[in-house]
Amino acid sequence: MHRFFTDPDNVTIFPRDDTTPETDPIGQIVISGDDFHHLIHVLRIAHDEPFEVCDGAGTDFICHIQEVFSEHLLAQIDAVDFSRGELPFTLTLFQGIPKGKKMDEIIQKGTELGYTAFVPFTAERTVNRPKDADFKKTLRRGRIAYEAAKQAGRGIIPTVEEPYPDVNAVGRALSAYDLVLVAHVSRDNPGLHEVLQSYGKTPKNAAVIIGPEGGFTEIEVLTLQKAGAIPVSLGARVMRTETAGPAMGAMLAYAFGLV
Ligand code: SAM
Repeated sequence: MHRFFTDPDNVTIFPRDDTTPETDPIGQIVISGDDFHHLIHVLRIAHDEPFEVCDGAGTDFICHIQEVFSEHLLAQIDAVDFSRGELPFTLTLFQGIPKGKKMDEIIQKGTELGYTAFVPFTAERTVNRPKDADFKKTLRRGRIAYEAAKQAGRGIIPTVEEPYPDVNAVGRALSAYDLVLVAHVSRDNPGLHEVLQSYGKTPKNAAVIIGPEGGFTEIEVLTLQKAGAIPVSLGARVMRTETAGPAMGAMLAYAFGLV
């Protein structure tokens, strides 16, 4: 079934009471812009063909076209459901800025795997230093998260923040999470399985911190540890930075019994 996101402001739910006939419509959605164009001119969707609209806040609406105007259409809501594409906890990826366009790939794969937010940051060994004009990159990355969320059947569109300047800024943000894991290549670190077993519950807000290609300095790991992050090993094989974050998202979903 075709699927779109819409702003919750475009959704109207009609009031109902005990006397409302079951057959009365539940509500309607106004669809305009790119999605209108895509439905009408690209997909040439039939009036009775159902499609899914998500409000980006965890609710899905099954609809069909009610009326088409020149620049927008009205879709009638036939059923309402919770979005099934969400993990029961938020999952933020703090990612040491990698080279080239790897950040785009991390956001795409990470969105497919359930991350709810991405925060790029400059680490000491970051090669690609963000410039002032890089806000355009954040816009493009947001668009990548949107497209990946649509494709993956997510119930929210993950956010992409402007890059943080260093691990100190990451550390200051960590009090918002009840579980923070910093992946660091070191034989001294416990494995993910051991760390999660001693944590012993499903988090509400979790965060993962991944270093850039050159990894973290020991001082950076210490700074993050002091701010509440638990250093963790992901096994004896060293992954590329663009592999580690998505892999950890998949491992966490599995560990908490969600796949
Ligand atoms: N030589 C670097 C080092 O020793 O840190 C390798 C860095 S690795 C290519 C990039 C990032 O991926 C690391 O900083 C870490 O966050 C994560 N990572 C990759 N493989 C890992 C593993 N086996 N255990 C823990 N973290 C790992």
